[in-house]
Amino acid sequence: MSILVANGTVVTATRVFQSDILIENGCITAIEEDISRANVEKNIDAAGCYVMPGGVDVHTHMNLTVGEKHVSDGFYHGSVAAAHGGTTCIVEHPGFGPEGCELSHQIDLYQEQATDEMVIDYSFHGVVQHVDDQVLQSVASLTDKGIASLKVYLTYSGRLGDEEIIQVMKATRDAGGMPTFHAENHAIISELTQEFRQTGDIKDPASHPKSRPDYAEAEAINRLIALSRAAGNVPIYIVHLSTASGLEIIRNAQKQGLEIYAETCPQYLTLTDSCYREADDKGLQYIMAPPVRTEQDCDALWDGLADGTISVVATDHCAFSFAQKLAKGKTDIFQSPGGIPGVETRIPLLFSEGVLKKRIDMNRFVQLVSTNPARIMGLAPQKGDIAIGADADLMILDPTAEKTISREILHQHVDYTPFAGMKVTGWPRTVMVRGRTIVHEEKMSATKGFGNFVNRKIQT
Ligand SMILES: [Zn+2]
Repeated sequence: MSILVANGTVVTATRVFQSDILIENGCITAIEEDISRANVEKNIDAAGCYVMPGGVDVHTHMNLTVGEKHVSDGFYHGSVAAAHGGTTCIVEHPGFGPEGCELSHQIDLYQEQATDEMVIDYSFHGVVQHVDDQVLQSVASLTDKGIASLKVYLTYSGRLGDEEIIQVMKATRDAGGMPTFHAENHAIISELTQEFRQTGDIKDPASHPKSRPDYAEAEAINRLIALSRAAGNVPIYIVHLSTASGLEIIRNAQKQGLEIYAETCPQYLTLTDSCYREADDKGLQYIMAPPVRTEQDCDALWDGLADGTISVVATDHCAFSFAQKLAKGKTDIFQSPGGIPGVETRIPLLFSEGVLKKRIDMNRFVQLVSTNPARIMGLAPQKGDIAIGADADLMILDPTAEKTISREILHQHVDYTPFAGMKVTGWPRTVMVRGRTIVHEEKMSATKGFGNFVNRKIQT
């Protein structure tokens, strides 16, 4: 099957230019002006639109179960929502498995659950919840199977201690993988939560950000950078950076030549902690870790995107419903499941708030939502670029489409969106995975199971 995407403005990580794109057998085979229409089986007119690499979201929880609570979407609905928002590939962070389980346990489980459900391409990060010889040895076998990154938590029940973190950093580096970190200081959060339980208001969602202050994140980031130095300057990746103070530590480390990657998410760029005071218990909707911060933090993070300190915008998409949050959190906010949905709104929000408001340029936008995450997480050169030989994963974005975000216009399988009421300009009109149009003008045409598992290998 040969397909021509014609008359569009092509945007990559480095260039903006008028060009046609020829797709054959799911791959890009020519990028030139005025490619001949003879012998082309299908024509897609992209006049007036930007043709960009499909979005790559390397931080999702579409399939998370915590205790008895399962997120409200799952791999099928989650991937449908992702596709409508221009994302063509995700890398899912699995939740913790049973205590003491092998490293492959969660990957095998998630693989089985994803394979017949996903409509876009996907991979998984590993998750380390304890460290012993067997776990350290299986880091290499997991990397060989294409799972080229691992998640380590510095808080929650599966958190690791400093010695263990150094061991995991070294094992991941030796295997050719990338360790990623949820950076919050556990002792600080426990202490402050304990204090709120004794003397504070545990029904007030505004207690949530106070129990997880910015210095808890900054401390953890500072420590991780020191540990990576002790491990021999192992490259590390910080997920969901939320604070100006954490950003400054990363910026300084990068200036010293250390390979520290940072990811942030639209919620930390567009929402502030006043949302925890919303009426009718709506403050519970924004329970997530880390919490959203102040306007100064948002501004600092935008600067970090513009100057390159932050490499990736992902979502941490985790669609526990408002109903689930109310059921557990109304009388005790610390019992509310954490996380927010965002996989469908990532690209429109970053385009509208970032590119159109001139905080980042078009190339940086493509770097942040597609090219950088694909490269850092080992999906390149197959994903994240418009280049000869790459998968024809494309997002054709109409820069004039205007929408007001609401639950009703989205395909996310959840009863709220934290971005309700925000006006955005620019939305993906056509979304292609391996040359197949899966979304066109809001109509989904891919079937369950169309998405493929992608073997990841980090290029050095
Ligand atoms: Zn997460």
